[in-house]
Amino acid sequence: MMVRRRRPVRITRPVPVAEVASTCCYCGVGCGVLIRAEGDAITGVRGDPRHPANLGRLCSKGNTLHLTATPAINRQARLLQPQWRAQRKEEPQALSWDDALDRAAARIDAIVNEHGPDALGFYVSGQLLTEDYYVFNKLAKGLLQTNNIDSNSRLCMSSAVAGYKLTLGADAPPPCYEDIDHASTLFLAGANMAYAHPVLFRRIEDARRANPALRIIVADPRRTDTAEIADLYLPLAPGSDVALFHGMLHVLLWDGLVDSAFIDLHTSGFAALKERVREFTPREAARLCAIPEADLVRAAHWFSHKEHGGPRAGATLSLYCQGLNQSADGTSKNAALINLHLAAGQIGRPGAGPLSLTGQPNAMGGREVGAMANLASAHRDLDNEGHRREIAHLWGYDAVPRVPGLTAVEMFEAAAEGKIKALWIACTNPAQSMPDQALVRRALERAEFVVVQEAYGGTATARYADLLLPAASWGEKEGTVTNSERRISRVRRAVAPPGAALPDWQIAAALAQRLEARRHPGLASRFAFESPEDIWNEHRASTRGRDLDITGLSYQILEKHGPQQWPYPDGAGTGRQRLYTDGRFATADGRARFADVGFRPLAEPRDVRYPFSLITGRLRDQWHGMSRTGTIGQLFGHDPEPAVDLHPRDMQRLAIADGDLVHLTSRRGSIIVAARASDSVARTQAFLAMHWGEEFLSGVGRAGDVAAGVNALTLPARCPTSSQPELKHAAVKVLRAELPWRLLAMAWLPDDEVIRTQKELRRLMPQFDFAVCVPFGNERQGLLFRSAGHEPAAPATVERIETLLGLAGDETLHYADKRHGQRRSMRLRQSGEIRRLEAFLLAGDTASAGWIRELLLQQLSTQPYGRLLLKPGAAAPAALAPRSGQVCSCFDVSETQIDGCLAGAQGMPEQRLAQLQQELRCGTNCGSCMPELRKRVRHSMKGPANH
Ligand code: SF4
Repeated sequence: MMVRRRRPVRITRPVPVAEVASTCCYCGVGCGVLIRAEGDAITGVRGDPRHPANLGRLCSKGNTLHLTATPAINRQARLLQPQWRAQRKEEPQALSWDDALDRAAARIDAIVNEHGPDALGFYVSGQLLTEDYYVFNKLAKGLLQTNNIDSNSRLCMSSAVAGYKLTLGADAPPPCYEDIDHASTLFLAGANMAYAHPVLFRRIEDARRANPALRIIVADPRRTDTAEIADLYLPLAPGSDVALFHGMLHVLLWDGLVDSAFIDLHTSGFAALKERVREFTPREAARLCAIPEADLVRAAHWFSHKEHGGPRAGATLSLYCQGLNQSADGTSKNAALINLHLAAGQIGRPGAGPLSLTGQPNAMGGREVGAMANLASAHRDLDNEGHRREIAHLWGYDAVPRVPGLTAVEMFEAAAEGKIKALWIACTNPAQSMPDQALVRRALERAEFVVVQEAYGGTATARYADLLLPAASWGEKEGTVTNSERRISRVRRAVAPPGAALPDWQIAAALAQRLEARRHPGLASRFAFESPEDIWNEHRASTRGRDLDITGLSYQILEKHGPQQWPYPDGAGTGRQRLYTDGRFATADGRARFADVGFRPLAEPRDVRYPFSLITGRLRDQWHGMSRTGTIGQLFGHDPEPAVDLHPRDMQRLAIADGDLVHLTSRRGSIIVAARASDSVARTQAFLAMHWGEEFLSGVGRAGDVAAGVNALTLPARCPTSSQPELKHAAVKVLRAELPWRLLAMAWLPDDEVIRTQKELRRLMPQFDFAVCVPFGNERQGLLFRSAGHEPAAPATVERIETLLGLAGDETLHYADKRHGQRRSMRLRQSGEIRRLEAFLLAGDTASAGWIRELLLQQLSTQPYGRLLLKPGAAAPAALAPRSGQVCSCFDVSETQIDGCLAGAQGMPEQRLAQLQQELRCGTNCGSCMPELRKRVRHSMKGPANH
């Protein structure tokens, strides 16, 4: 019998697969995520159904977290090794961790010896974990004896902090997310939740479905997607929020709708405020806000839920964010809103209260440990001697310094003046996010020693660093974060950090131990932490007896029972869901204080020379400076390129067409960007997203340097109480840019090359008057490079772009007219029977960009075109249906597809929406596109009107 030999079985070791519960690293909603890891790679993410913040939901950003953590992206985008620049502007050279930290400790020690500790500045981030924050704070205020540590939360939440402390006595948001379900009125003020806090906005949509009687007021100068859900939309003039709130309070008083019993029993200072708001008659307040008087009165009535002389009939929850915070009058705006809650007795019970929405994932954690220039640990006050003694004792130092340190903008001003000699920047990108970039860049150039501790190597700030330290990022580190509703969640590691990257706390502790050896030789280290839990336990001890007391909580409880709200004192058994339910506030006498705040106009009002109000804000699918979200094409589908939104009638008046380039100029700087017609902005308003820094939108600046993106325009004016700068508004002028020579190049690239190529293309951006470089794509990834100039670019520059985008080989079709600066190049790829366009460059005349772009993006056959691909002209040689803008990023569904489907839909809006979802699947995954889908459903029912 013949024995058949079995084929040898190849034995492969199974890759261990794990699912690790952690937290999303983007916004302050603080959604729980389950990270899927296979071996050393993160391969998936889904919402954690057990996390109370999101109950399994994620938005478009959270949903794609794993795509931003692939090995290919890590290899190209991440800092993998400590690096040192012997000379600024040179390429940095790798060195070991020991060498890097020894050098850093020696430089810092020398600067402190020569200039004192206040010559140091630590600029940290609301994206650090609480444990990271704690170590940095102890290092600065304890070991180095300087309060010069501030966080980018200064740009985000410091006015909310100051507003709470001024009125309620402590930096503690009283309500919780569940209050959305209990409220009868939601007042959304200065918050585009549909984009900035999408999962919480889903909860509002649920609440509306469950309770059709729910009233929603949205106050925002821009008609955002959030405003689409409003029953009452107040398009108030930029900066007029205090006038609105005072006007509403005037109505409450005049109509007998205040809660006198609550005011008498639980508050102080009402008489002075009453006097103050006397002049804010509805007519006057409505004039200041530029809204109809009747709408202001209606908003006040809906807010109060009290019939004249009768009982309260409902609860009002306010949700607010950067529209109030990022203002030179931010503290007053926050306090004036809280005044309304106190006057109407709308606080301390289910469905009622002021709930500030935290921008960043852990701005709250930073506030808890006191890692800001004017705060002390565990909500203590720096100017309270007893508080300082408590902290010094806990840390084992003789004292902690009394004088508040320099806040963010002050720190960079001091560095620009040469007073700050060393800047240690951790997990933030000030050369993108701070206002008045000319000042920030002067500061980074003048500082003697700049350390950038970062996960990503391509940030605008990284090029100023003397020392670059690679930090671990999402999915690679352990610790905790606190979200907007005071809920502490665990952040867990699913994979090891790539290369030599380390968790931030570990870097700070290792530096501290080296500095201890120099400054206090022979003494036991106060930074000998073995784990994040050690640090957290020390932080926990600092909270004993404070309003945020968490002495009853532990890592074990978080492990066993999941995320918990503070306070959670010893013996409590559970966290407190909402605060001030007993009417006792965190003030010395237990009474909340009405804040007698005045109305101040904008720091920089519009005038004849600068007649437009520039408003900044978020895009739906991007996060901050885009160092993470900007690594994948998927998240550029909804907003593919930078554009400033202008009202169509303003554009008509200025003879600007959609897509034309314009100079956007403020008193501090100028940038060039494409104009886009939008009826979401009022006349004389201009909206530009906060994300567009020099990494994506650049060109040559005024002084021959690199144009610095959106924050070249914004101003450093800040709130006198909170020191938060007025990032939301600047006066600008808009002028058509005459740049006749244009270039557009696009290419599909291997995943392993996209970011590396982007880095090289970025180097070329300052060679043009205007330049944009952004990724695109879904399954495949590609890069778009667009530029413009007065004159044709140097041929070598154009050739360099071609080489980078794979357009230099023999298989590329070329047309060139050197005399007129014209060049067209196309690379095709044969795939089976079909030849597709893989890359192209059009220089000089780019009129054919529209159809060539579609050929590439839609990956269509080029057979009908042949050498006509090189033909100039806007008309495609063969019929081609252009793809419209993307609405749903999960399933890549476009506006045209949606409108086409809606044309045949029937029934009520919800039925039409259901038909749409069933047919195209849009809005059935993360739901971030739901507000836009609803808008399109509504418009479709009105007929073929403009969207
Ligand atoms: Fe992350 Fe989106 Fe949740 Fe914010 S709403 S925490 S960005 S998933």
